[in-house]
Amino acid sequence: MIRKDNPILLKNIQVFSEDRIIEKGFIKIKNQKIVEIGSIDNLSNREEFDVIELPSHYKAVPGFIDVHIHGVNGADVMDASKDALDTMVTALPREGTTSFLATTMTQEALLIENALVKAGQYIKEYQAPGKAEILGIHLEGPFVSPKMAGAQPIQHIIDPDLKLFKRWHSLSDKTIKLVTLAPERPGGLEMIQYLTKHGIIASLGHTDAAYEEIKAAIGAGANHVTHLFNQMRGLHHRDPGVVGAAFLHDELKAELIVDGVHVNPEIVKLAYKQKRKEGLILITDSMQAKCLKNGHYDLGGQDVTVKDGKAFLQDGTLAGSILKMGKAVQNILTYTDCSIEDAIAMASVNPAKQLNIYDRKGSITVGKDADIVIVDDKFEVFMTVCRGKIAFQKEGK
Ligand SMILES: [Zn+2]
Repeated sequence: MIRKDNPILLKNIQVFSEDRIIEKGFIKIKNQKIVEIGSIDNLSNREEFDVIELPSHYKAVPGFIDVHIHGVNGADVMDASKDALDTMVTALPREGTTSFLATTMTQEALLIENALVKAGQYIKEYQAPGKAEILGIHLEGPFVSPKMAGAQPIQHIIDPDLKLFKRWHSLSDKTIKLVTLAPERPGGLEMIQYLTKHGIIASLGHTDAAYEEIKAAIGAGANHVTHLFNQMRGLHHRDPGVVGAAFLHDELKAELIVDGVHVNPEIVKLAYKQKRKEGLILITDSMQAKCLKNGHYDLGGQDVTVKDGKAFLQDGTLAGSILKMGKAVQNILTYTDCSIEDAIAMASVNPAKQLNIYDRKGSITVGKDADIVIVDDKFEVFMTVCRGKIAFQKEGK
């Protein structure tokens, strides 16, 4: 029986470290950090560690970072409760997610405010090793375009309002890290400038902006695109749109929902060819029905039907996904010719760099947080370590 807070030695695995792949490697973990990595031929000083022997064809990869997730397992950030956030940080390591941005959605102001207050409190007071870490909040809407509402309830969409945003940021205890907005709406560019100046990522999403408007947004500091292709002006040969701008501008890192439903697998291939491993960030955009059975669920006060891996509003609009991060990584490996290192870049490295936390997360490197996923030869998640503590282990092995 492993005592979960002891120093841990993960042994015998293929380690995908920051700069090399170590066959038959080991990782030593102590006080929530990675303290040593290497080849087992050079392993010494194992006394104080709980040794975990793993099958040699298993791989250790950096924990996945999901910058766009609303809910899982019957809990949603908009529930605005400690219980819901507890459920999320406990459930997400099962899919290899070790940290994430708690994502709100367009709703009436009071409901957004409640969610911001609760998430802000949780981030500051309740986080613990052995659970996924909430890195901050992703405010998705309400400052988006009514023309590209998607699953965001249209009656609550408003124009970018800097005064309101400042109030919300302070209610969240300054934990908002990313804002999805439509730059073409009145006040859009002003908000992008403000966010950029304050170290908050301005992301272009749920937007009908024309190419020139996106260029202006980039000029103001926008550097992120919310779920590329979904709910934005598409690529047309006489109108490059938001998608064309994302393809042409390396400054823009693009989120992608690789569930094979939100974006066709061939289009995933096309996006990868354009943006390469440096330009894409895998997300789930998942909702509370993830990990639950087919049926009816609530999404921002709207009825959502989940059937056979898809989630729909009553009018047929695709709602949030039920994708898991581990599956997103498997899918990108299947849909494209990318290497495992490239998939890791898109699931772990890029989101950490984008959030400006690559000094402590996003790779298996000595001194960084011990956020590690062990996957089997099919890239199924076998074990997840969150800041040095085992958060999930597949049963029956
Ligand atoms: Zn979303």
